[in-house]
Amino acid sequence: MAGRLDGRIAVITGGARGQGEATARIFAAEGARIVVADMLESEGQAVAASIGENALFVKLDVSDEQQWLALDRTITDRWDASADILVNNAGVVHPAAMLDLARDDFERVLRINLIGAWLGMKILGAGMIAKGKGSIVNIVSSSGLWGMNGLTAYSASKWALRGITKTAAMEFGPKGVRVNAVFPGGINTAMGNVTNEDASELNKYYVGQPIARIGEPEEVARTSLFLASDDASYVCGAEIAVDGGMTMGVYTPFLPGAPGA
Ligand code: NAD
Repeated sequence: MAGRLDGRIAVITGGARGQGEATARIFAAEGARIVVADMLESEGQAVAASIGENALFVKLDVSDEQQWLALDRTITDRWDASADILVNNAGVVHPAAMLDLARDDFERVLRINLIGAWLGMKILGAGMIAKGKGSIVNIVSSSGLWGMNGLTAYSASKWALRGITKTAAMEFGPKGVRVNAVFPGGINTAMGNVTNEDASELNKYYVGQPIARIGEPEEVARTSLFLASDDASYVCGAEIAVDGGMTMGVYTPFLPGAPGA
């Protein structure tokens, strides 16, 4: 049976673990050639090796333009073609109360989560525009849909990434390149499950949302697959929350329809 991404070259930043790793594996299973791009060398190499000969690990700090240009050349050397799909998934979080946040930490988060994603769109997007076809998926966050305490830098980076996703959709869309955004809620990865607890132990933090549990990385990856594939051929500039309904609202216990009422 044909895969939904047969032969496409997909670059997944932050592909060494978590949601990026799940995306790499699911895209590979759909026939894509995979570039696992991450700063974590041994983890990234292990993911690429376990996928097999259709996967390549490239060491990349997304905030470094020269490294993006080198990645672009590496893809051409390996496959004599340029990227068809980019998933801007690499990200970092720096929790701190606003009064305690240091400027360097604020700027580092913006350099990785925002400037890094923009560099990817700029450098790999150019190749897609030249071919007249491509798909870019930006992994944002529920922190880009509503406010969260302790996440000044992260929220700023994700709201801004949401904003430039719209700009890219408008500029790239007429040239055959669709750009869309995914907004994960709490996901069971090193970022979303810092103490690496059993997922069932964490569900108590999610009782206020319609699907009252933490999400799994594959649930986000399957949404990215839809957006990357031709199934989403008329989808450009969309915002898909994969958050169990977290950002839909706050239950009001004294009104009808609340859970347990
Ligand atoms: P993770 O920490 O497991 O994975 C992040 C990956 O990004 C790591 O492999 C890391 O090495 C890589 N990375 C960090 N800085 C990088 C850099 N400068 N260059 C290249 N790679 C870099 O966490 P995750 O949950 O898999 O996160 C994936 C994405 O999902 C991130 O953008 C994150 O902000 C977003 N997100 C996560 C959650 C959650 O609860 N886990 C919720 C909303 C959004």
